[in-house]
Amino acid sequence: MIDCKTHRDDFFSRSTGQEIYYWMYSGQPQIVSINRGGTSGSIEIEVIRVRDEDYEWAIDVFNELDYYLEPEFILTEDINQADIRLWGTTGYNLMSETSTLFGFATPFNADEKGYVDVVVNVDAGIAAGDTEEFDPENTHTALHEIGHALGLSHPGVNGRDLPYWELYDSEDTIMSYNKPEDGVHAMYYSEGDILALREIWGAEGDYKTPSNPGSTNRETIYSQTGKGQLKSSSIQPTTFIFDSFDKFGKKGADKITKFNPDSGDSLLFTTNALPALINRDEYFFGIAKNKKQLKRLSKDCNDFVYYQKKGQLYFDGNCYEKGWGRKNEGGLIAVLKGKPELTVDQLMVEIVSVD
Ligand SMILES: [Zn+2]
Repeated sequence: MIDCKTHRDDFFSRSTGQEIYYWMYSGQPQIVSINRGGTSGSIEIEVIRVRDEDYEWAIDVFNELDYYLEPEFILTEDINQADIRLWGTTGYNLMSETSTLFGFATPFNADEKGYVDVVVNVDAGIAAGDTEEFDPENTHTALHEIGHALGLSHPGVNGRDLPYWELYDSEDTIMSYNKPEDGVHAMYYSEGDILALREIWGAEGDYKTPSNPGSTNRETIYSQTGKGQLKSSSIQPTTFIFDSFDKFGKKGADKITKFNPDSGDSLLFTTNALPALINRDEYFFGIAKNKKQLKRLSKDCNDFVYYQKKGQLYFDGNCYEKGWGRKNEGGLIAVLKGKPELTVDQLMVEIVSVD
Protein backbone atom coordinates (compact mmCIF):
# COMPACT_ATOMS: atom_id res chain seq x y z
CA MET A 1 0.00 0.00 0.00
CA ILE A 2 1.24 3.46 -0.75
CA ASP A 3 0.10 6.65 0.81
CA CYS A 4 -1.87 8.63 -1.74
CA LYS A 5 -0.97 12.11 -0.62
CA THR A 6 2.71 11.24 -0.47
CA HIS A 7 2.37 9.74 -3.93
CA ARG A 8 0.82 12.90 -5.29
CA ASP A 9 3.42 15.06 -3.60
CA ASP A 10 6.18 12.92 -5.09
CA PHE A 11 4.91 13.99 -8.48
CA PHE A 12 3.94 17.56 -7.65
CA SER A 13 7.19 18.37 -5.83
CA ARG A 14 9.23 17.98 -8.99
CA SER A 15 10.33 20.99 -10.95
CA THR A 16 7.56 20.35 -13.44
CA GLY A 17 4.99 20.73 -10.66
CA GLN A 18 1.52 19.73 -11.70
CA GLU A 19 2.59 18.73 -15.16
CA ILE A 20 2.81 14.97 -15.42
CA TYR A 21 4.73 13.73 -18.42
CA TYR A 22 3.94 10.34 -19.90
CA TRP A 23 6.03 8.50 -22.42
CA MET A 24 5.48 5.40 -24.55
CA TYR A 25 8.06 2.97 -25.81
CA SER A 26 8.40 3.12 -29.59
CA GLY A 27 11.65 1.28 -30.22
CA GLN A 28 12.63 -2.20 -31.36
CA PRO A 29 11.90 -5.25 -29.20
CA GLN A 30 14.57 -5.57 -26.52
CA ILE A 31 15.17 -6.88 -23.02
CA VAL A 32 14.84 -4.23 -20.33
CA SER A 33 15.26 -4.58 -16.61
CA ILE A 34 12.53 -2.95 -14.52
CA ASN A 35 12.76 -2.48 -10.79
CA ARG A 36 9.46 -3.66 -9.37
CA GLY A 37 10.29 -2.20 -5.99
CA GLY A 38 9.64 -3.69 -2.59
CA THR A 39 10.79 -7.24 -2.21
CA SER A 40 10.25 -8.20 -5.85
CA GLY A 41 13.47 -6.60 -7.05
CA SER A 42 14.24 -6.31 -10.73
CA ILE A 43 12.63 -8.26 -13.50
CA GLU A 44 13.72 -8.61 -17.10
CA ILE A 45 10.99 -8.08 -19.64
CA GLU A 46 10.92 -8.02 -23.40
CA VAL A 47 9.55 -4.64 -24.36
CA ILE A 48 7.80 -3.97 -27.65
CA ARG A 49 6.62 -0.68 -29.09
CA VAL A 50 3.18 0.58 -28.19
CA ARG A 51 1.12 -0.04 -31.33
CA ASP A 52 -0.21 2.99 -33.22
CA GLU A 53 -3.83 2.48 -32.25
CA ASP A 54 -2.87 1.97 -28.60
CA TYR A 55 -0.72 5.07 -28.77
CA GLU A 56 -3.75 7.09 -29.90
CA TRP A 57 -5.90 5.39 -27.33
CA ALA A 58 -3.52 6.22 -24.49
CA ILE A 59 -3.43 9.87 -25.54
CA ASP A 60 -7.24 9.91 -25.36
CA VAL A 61 -7.14 8.33 -21.91
CA PHE A 62 -4.69 10.89 -20.54
CA ASN A 63 -6.56 13.75 -22.22
CA GLU A 64 -9.70 12.63 -20.52
CA LEU A 65 -8.00 12.22 -17.15
CA ASP A 66 -6.70 15.72 -17.72
CA TYR A 67 -10.23 17.03 -17.82
CA TYR A 68 -11.22 15.23 -14.66
CA LEU A 69 -8.10 15.82 -12.61
CA GLU A 70 -6.02 18.80 -11.66
CA PRO A 71 -2.63 17.73 -13.04
CA GLU A 72 -1.86 18.33 -16.65
CA PHE A 73 -0.89 15.18 -18.50
CA ILE A 74 1.59 15.84 -21.25
CA LEU A 75 2.95 13.41 -23.79
CA THR A 76 6.73 13.44 -24.10
CA GLU A 77 9.09 11.64 -26.43
CA ASP A 78 11.95 12.05 -24.02
CA ILE A 79 12.22 9.15 -21.59
CA ASN A 80 14.25 11.29 -19.22
CA GLN A 81 11.40 13.74 -18.89
CA ALA A 82 8.84 11.01 -18.22
CA ASP A 83 6.96 10.67 -14.95
CA ILE A 84 5.00 7.71 -16.30
CA ARG A 85 6.63 5.30 -18.76
CA LEU A 86 4.36 2.96 -20.71
CA TRP A 87 5.72 -0.28 -22.13
CA GLY A 88 4.17 -3.06 -24.16
CA THR A 89 5.79 -6.43 -23.67
CA THR A 90 5.72 -9.98 -24.93
CA GLY A 91 5.00 -12.81 -22.54
CA TYR A 92 8.74 -13.30 -21.90
CA ASN A 93 9.26 -13.84 -18.16
CA LEU A 94 5.66 -12.89 -17.51
CA MET A 95 3.94 -16.07 -18.67
CA SER A 96 4.57 -19.67 -17.78
CA GLU A 97 2.54 -22.86 -17.98
CA THR A 98 1.13 -22.18 -14.55
CA SER A 99 0.83 -18.44 -14.29
CA THR A 100 0.30 -15.28 -16.28
CA LEU A 101 1.13 -11.76 -15.26
CA PHE A 102 -1.03 -9.44 -17.37
CA GLY A 103 0.94 -6.41 -16.40
CA PHE A 104 2.29 -4.43 -13.51
CA ALA A 105 3.09 -0.93 -12.40
CA THR A 106 5.73 0.45 -10.08
CA PRO A 107 4.12 3.34 -8.16
CA PHE A 108 6.71 2.79 -5.42
CA ASN A 109 9.38 4.17 -7.70
CA ALA A 110 7.78 7.61 -7.89
CA ASP A 111 9.52 8.66 -4.73
CA GLU A 112 12.93 7.12 -5.21
CA LYS A 113 13.40 7.24 -8.97
CA GLY A 114 11.06 10.00 -10.00
CA TYR A 115 9.13 7.88 -12.44
CA VAL A 116 6.66 5.03 -12.54
CA ASP A 117 6.63 2.20 -15.07
CA VAL A 118 3.43 0.80 -16.51
CA VAL A 119 3.84 -2.57 -18.19
CA VAL A 120 1.19 -4.28 -20.32
CA ASN A 121 1.81 -7.87 -21.36
CA VAL A 122 0.20 -7.79 -24.79
CA ASP A 123 0.66 -11.55 -25.31
CA ALA A 124 -1.40 -12.28 -22.21
CA GLY A 125 -4.31 -10.28 -23.56
CA ILE A 126 -4.12 -12.07 -26.87
CA ALA A 127 -3.99 -15.44 -25.12
CA ALA A 128 -7.12 -14.40 -23.23
CA GLY A 129 -9.00 -13.67 -26.44
CA ASP A 130 -8.08 -10.15 -27.52
CA THR A 131 -8.14 -9.51 -31.24
CA GLU A 132 -6.72 -6.60 -33.17
CA GLU A 133 -10.11 -4.93 -33.43
CA PHE A 134 -11.34 -5.64 -29.93
CA ASP A 135 -8.98 -5.93 -27.01
CA PRO A 136 -10.81 -5.57 -23.70
CA GLU A 137 -8.17 -7.63 -21.86
CA ASN A 138 -5.22 -5.44 -22.71
CA THR A 139 -7.35 -2.32 -22.38
CA HIS A 140 -8.31 -3.39 -18.88
CA THR A 141 -4.69 -4.16 -18.02
CA ALA A 142 -3.49 -0.79 -19.29
CA LEU A 143 -6.18 1.17 -17.42
CA HIS A 144 -5.64 -0.92 -14.31
CA GLU A 145 -1.87 -0.40 -14.29
CA ILE A 146 -2.17 3.31 -15.08
CA GLY A 147 -4.60 3.34 -12.14
CA HIS A 148 -1.86 1.86 -9.93
CA ALA A 149 0.65 4.35 -11.31
CA LEU A 150 -1.69 7.13 -10.25
CA GLY A 151 -2.07 5.68 -6.77
CA LEU A 152 -5.18 3.49 -6.94
CA SER A 153 -5.19 0.17 -5.08
CA HIS A 154 -7.18 -3.00 -5.52
CA PRO A 155 -10.49 -3.33 -3.74
CA GLY A 156 -9.84 -4.32 -0.17
CA VAL A 157 -10.71 -3.81 3.43
CA ASN A 158 -8.62 -3.17 6.54
CA GLY A 159 -5.41 -3.18 4.57
CA ARG A 160 -6.21 -6.47 2.87
CA ASP A 161 -5.63 -6.53 -0.85
CA LEU A 162 -8.63 -8.25 -2.50
CA PRO A 163 -8.55 -7.81 -6.29
CA TYR A 164 -10.84 -10.86 -6.68
CA TRP A 165 -13.34 -9.71 -4.06
CA GLU A 166 -16.67 -10.81 -5.51
CA LEU A 167 -18.39 -7.61 -4.38
CA TYR A 168 -16.82 -5.84 -7.35
CA ASP A 169 -16.10 -6.32 -11.01
CA SER A 170 -14.24 -4.15 -13.49
CA GLU A 171 -17.38 -2.15 -14.23
CA ASP A 172 -17.52 -1.06 -10.59
CA THR A 173 -13.83 -0.33 -10.53
CA ILE A 174 -11.10 -0.96 -13.04
CA MET A 175 -8.99 -2.06 -10.05
CA SER A 176 -11.01 -5.29 -9.77
CA TYR A 177 -9.76 -8.43 -11.51
CA ASN A 178 -13.31 -9.75 -11.91
CA LYS A 179 -15.14 -9.52 -15.18
CA PRO A 180 -18.69 -8.22 -15.27
CA GLU A 181 -21.53 -10.63 -15.96
CA ASP A 182 -21.17 -10.35 -19.72
CA GLY A 183 -17.64 -11.67 -19.46
CA VAL A 184 -16.06 -8.61 -21.04
CA HIS A 185 -13.93 -6.25 -19.01
CA ALA A 186 -14.95 -2.62 -18.66
CA MET A 187 -12.93 -0.45 -21.02
CA TYR A 188 -12.84 2.75 -19.02
CA TYR A 189 -12.58 3.99 -15.46
CA SER A 190 -15.80 3.87 -13.49
CA GLU A 191 -17.34 6.88 -11.86
CA GLY A 192 -15.97 5.58 -8.56
CA ASP A 193 -12.46 5.33 -10.02
CA ILE A 194 -12.60 8.93 -11.21
CA LEU A 195 -13.81 10.04 -7.79
CA ALA A 196 -11.00 8.11 -6.13
CA LEU A 197 -8.47 9.67 -8.48
CA ARG A 198 -9.91 13.07 -7.68
CA GLU A 199 -9.44 12.38 -3.99
CA ILE A 200 -5.75 11.93 -4.71
CA TRP A 201 -5.12 14.50 -7.40
CA GLY A 202 -7.85 17.07 -7.01
CA ALA A 203 -10.46 17.93 -9.58
CA GLU A 204 -9.56 19.86 -12.68
CA GLY A 205 -9.53 23.53 -11.79
CA ASP A 206 -9.02 22.99 -8.07
CA TYR A 207 -5.98 25.18 -7.90
CA LYS A 208 -7.00 27.78 -10.44
CA THR A 209 -9.13 30.84 -10.04
CA PRO A 210 -12.21 30.23 -12.10
CA SER A 211 -12.23 32.55 -15.10
CA ASN A 212 -16.00 32.83 -15.08
CA PRO A 213 -17.44 33.44 -11.62
CA GLY A 214 -20.84 32.06 -12.56
CA SER A 215 -19.39 28.73 -13.50
CA THR A 216 -17.44 27.94 -10.34
CA ASN A 217 -19.31 24.75 -9.67
CA ARG A 218 -19.81 23.80 -13.25
CA GLU A 219 -18.11 20.67 -14.45
CA THR A 220 -16.89 20.43 -18.00
CA ILE A 221 -16.44 17.20 -19.89
CA TYR A 222 -14.99 17.15 -23.37
CA SER A 223 -16.10 14.96 -26.24
CA GLN A 224 -13.84 12.15 -27.37
CA THR A 225 -12.51 11.15 -30.74
CA GLY A 226 -14.57 8.29 -32.14
CA LYS A 227 -17.38 6.89 -30.03
CA GLY A 228 -16.66 7.90 -26.48
CA GLN A 229 -18.46 7.51 -23.21
CA LEU A 230 -19.04 10.73 -21.37
CA LYS A 231 -20.25 10.55 -17.85
CA SER A 232 -20.97 13.38 -15.54
CA SER A 233 -19.56 12.23 -12.25
CA SER A 234 -21.47 14.31 -9.78
CA ILE A 235 -24.58 16.31 -9.10
CA GLN A 236 -22.93 19.53 -10.26
CA PRO A 237 -24.24 21.01 -13.48
CA THR A 238 -22.13 19.69 -16.33
CA THR A 239 -21.31 21.18 -19.68
CA PHE A 240 -20.42 18.62 -22.31
CA ILE A 241 -18.14 20.37 -24.72
CA PHE A 242 -17.72 19.30 -28.32
CA ASP A 243 -14.67 21.22 -29.39
CA SER A 244 -13.00 19.07 -31.98
CA PHE A 245 -14.09 17.77 -35.31
CA ASP A 246 -15.06 14.10 -35.28
CA LYS A 247 -16.80 11.92 -37.80
CA PHE A 248 -20.55 11.77 -37.56
CA GLY A 249 -22.62 8.63 -37.19
CA LYS A 250 -22.41 5.68 -34.84
CA LYS A 251 -18.63 5.54 -35.07
CA GLY A 252 -18.14 9.14 -34.02
CA ALA A 253 -21.02 9.92 -31.70
CA ASP A 254 -20.28 10.04 -27.98
CA LYS A 255 -22.66 8.44 -25.50
CA ILE A 256 -23.56 10.66 -22.61
CA THR A 257 -24.79 9.06 -19.42
CA LYS A 258 -26.68 10.89 -16.73
CA PHE A 259 -27.47 13.96 -18.78
CA ASN A 260 -29.90 15.83 -16.59
CA PRO A 261 -31.38 19.08 -17.96
CA ASP A 262 -33.01 19.81 -14.60
CA SER A 263 -29.69 20.04 -12.81
CA GLY A 264 -28.35 22.42 -15.43
CA ASP A 265 -26.51 20.05 -17.75
CA SER A 266 -25.93 21.41 -21.21
CA LEU A 267 -24.25 20.67 -24.52
CA LEU A 268 -21.82 23.12 -26.06
CA PHE A 269 -20.74 22.79 -29.67
CA THR A 270 -17.95 24.96 -30.92
CA THR A 271 -17.35 25.71 -34.54
CA ASN A 272 -14.24 23.53 -34.30
CA ALA A 273 -16.62 20.61 -34.00
CA LEU A 274 -19.21 22.01 -36.40
CA PRO A 275 -17.38 24.21 -38.92
CA ALA A 276 -20.62 24.56 -40.89
CA LEU A 277 -21.83 27.00 -38.24
CA ILE A 278 -18.86 29.39 -38.50
CA ASN A 279 -20.60 32.20 -40.34
CA ARG A 280 -23.98 31.80 -38.72
CA ASP A 281 -25.55 33.96 -36.11
CA GLU A 282 -28.48 31.71 -35.42
CA TYR A 283 -29.26 28.05 -35.65
CA PHE A 284 -32.35 25.90 -35.50
CA PHE A 285 -33.34 23.04 -33.34
CA GLY A 286 -36.11 20.52 -33.87
CA ILE A 287 -37.51 17.63 -31.91
CA ALA A 288 -38.76 14.49 -33.60
CA LYS A 289 -41.37 12.37 -31.88
CA ASN A 290 -41.18 9.49 -34.31
CA LYS A 291 -39.23 8.16 -37.28
CA LYS A 292 -41.46 9.95 -39.76
CA GLN A 293 -40.89 13.31 -38.13
CA LEU A 294 -37.18 12.59 -37.94
CA LYS A 295 -37.12 12.05 -41.68
CA ARG A 296 -39.07 15.20 -42.32
CA LEU A 297 -36.93 17.31 -40.04
CA SER A 298 -33.78 16.12 -41.79
CA LYS A 299 -35.11 17.84 -44.91
CA ASP A 300 -36.19 20.96 -43.05
CA CYS A 301 -32.92 22.74 -42.55
CA ASN A 302 -32.91 22.33 -38.82
CA ASP A 303 -29.31 22.38 -37.65
CA PHE A 304 -29.93 20.14 -34.68
CA VAL A 305 -32.60 17.49 -34.48
CA TYR A 306 -33.24 15.51 -31.34
CA TYR A 307 -34.98 12.14 -31.59
CA GLN A 308 -36.01 11.69 -28.01
CA LYS A 309 -37.34 8.16 -28.31
CA LYS A 310 -33.74 7.05 -28.83
CA GLY A 311 -31.91 9.90 -27.17
CA GLN A 312 -30.21 10.66 -30.49
CA LEU A 313 -29.00 14.11 -31.43
CA TYR A 314 -28.33 14.76 -35.10
CA PHE A 315 -26.58 17.58 -36.85
CA ASP A 316 -28.02 18.34 -40.26
CA GLY A 317 -25.17 19.11 -42.60
CA ASN A 318 -27.10 19.30 -45.85
CA CYS A 319 -30.06 21.50 -45.04
CA TYR A 320 -32.98 20.89 -47.37
CA GLU A 321 -31.69 17.67 -48.81
CA LYS A 322 -32.68 14.25 -47.53
CA GLY A 323 -30.68 12.80 -44.68
CA TRP A 324 -27.92 14.54 -42.77
CA GLY A 325 -25.20 14.85 -45.36
CA ARG A 326 -21.96 13.03 -45.97
CA LYS A 327 -20.09 11.51 -43.04
CA ASN A 328 -17.95 14.61 -42.70
CA GLU A 329 -20.93 16.95 -42.99
CA GLY A 330 -23.55 15.74 -40.59
CA GLY A 331 -25.29 12.86 -38.90
CA LEU A 332 -25.60 11.43 -35.42
CA ILE A 333 -23.46 13.51 -33.10
CA ALA A 334 -24.39 12.38 -29.58
CA VAL A 335 -26.56 9.84 -27.83
CA LEU A 336 -28.13 10.81 -24.52
CA LYS A 337 -28.66 7.66 -22.52
CA GLY A 338 -31.88 7.53 -20.57
CA LYS A 339 -33.49 9.65 -23.33
CA PRO A 340 -33.86 12.84 -21.31
CA GLU A 341 -35.93 15.73 -22.58
CA LEU A 342 -33.82 18.18 -24.49
CA THR A 343 -34.76 21.71 -25.43
CA VAL A 344 -32.93 24.52 -27.15
CA ASP A 345 -32.07 25.86 -23.69
CA GLN A 346 -29.54 23.10 -23.16
CA LEU A 347 -27.86 23.65 -26.50
CA MET A 348 -25.14 26.18 -27.02
CA VAL A 349 -23.03 27.00 -30.01
CA GLU A 350 -19.79 28.89 -29.62
CA ILE A 351 -18.06 30.50 -32.55
CA VAL A 352 -14.34 30.09 -32.17
CA SER A 353 -11.91 31.94 -34.35
CA VAL A 354 -9.83 29.80 -36.60
CA ASP A 355 -6.14 30.60 -36.54
ZN1 LIG B 1 -3.42 -4.52 -9.79
